[in-house]
Amino acid sequence: MHQAKQFDPRTSHLSTPSPKAIPEEAKARQKREFNKLQKRLRRQAGNAIIDYSMIQEGDRVMVCLSGGKDSYTLLEILRNLQRNAPVDFSLVAVNLDQKQPGFPEHVLPAYLEGLGVEYHILERDTYSVVKEKTPEGKTTCALCSRLRRGSLYGFAEEIGATKIALGHHREDILETLFLNLFFGGSLKAMPPKLLSDDGRNILIRPLAYCKESDIAEFSRLMQFPIIPCNLCGSQPNLQRQLAKEMLMEWDRKYPGRLESMFKAVTNVAPSQLADRDLFDFAGLEARQADLKASRIDAFNLG
Ligand code: SF4
Repeated sequence: MHQAKQFDPRTSHLSTPSPKAIPEEAKARQKREFNKLQKRLRRQAGNAIIDYSMIQEGDRVMVCLSGGKDSYTLLEILRNLQRNAPVDFSLVAVNLDQKQPGFPEHVLPAYLEGLGVEYHILERDTYSVVKEKTPEGKTTCALCSRLRRGSLYGFAEEIGATKIALGHHREDILETLFLNLFFGGSLKAMPPKLLSDDGRNILIRPLAYCKESDIAEFSRLMQFPIIPCNLCGSQPNLQRQLAKEMLMEWDRKYPGRLESMFKAVTNVAPSQLADRDLFDFAGLEARQADLKASRIDAFNLG
């Protein structure tokens, strides 16, 4: 029996035969929705790249690919932007195989070869280290992420990458803000661009303006071959999960709240907070005297 062809967002072609024919009108609507979503993600990533001067002429951008929805989306959007960018930059995808039991080693190489993207699979058995060092019953994610970061940052230098691109999005940034507020006693989040503590790498987060739900939908439509991040059998990072749920609940109940909170992260007023390193509270009297003097001068001159 002849089967109707279906829209494949990866190629923008009609391709894979579907078990059930989709009416032409529904297919066209699907395609329109997909194009709108892709354009939005592209526009937001492009704006973040410009606003924070993330990518310069000649940059070699290492895209950290974990196999999750965020990093696949990041790579796809950067490839998209690369075609029309006013500056010339190259991309190299890097996946760290942490030797977790059950890690499907073939998935990313097959995907990346299909795209024709330069890539490296870096093998480091951080899994054994994490298992050995983490006390029974404690969550393993903090150490695992630290080791992963260390391996990837070192590798970036080896391959001559000038920027390291990470797939964190708007909700990651807000979750981190609240985790620091609730447990860290500091008002800090996750910046769109960062110089690593040792000064050797510059990290960029081109998806900083993108909503997680858009990324999840894009990933679903693109049918990325997702590799879960809990092959290690670790308990989820509970506090982050709670922060995520809190944000999702707010987003449902109070539309616009997350937008406002993210705007706040980009619009800080140090004089309205209480950090003595950021604002010179002790110098307010001197400032007042200066202002008075300048007013008197202006009055006399007038
Ligand atoms: S879920 Fe497992 S692989 Fe993912 S960060 Fe945590 S410890 Fe690492």
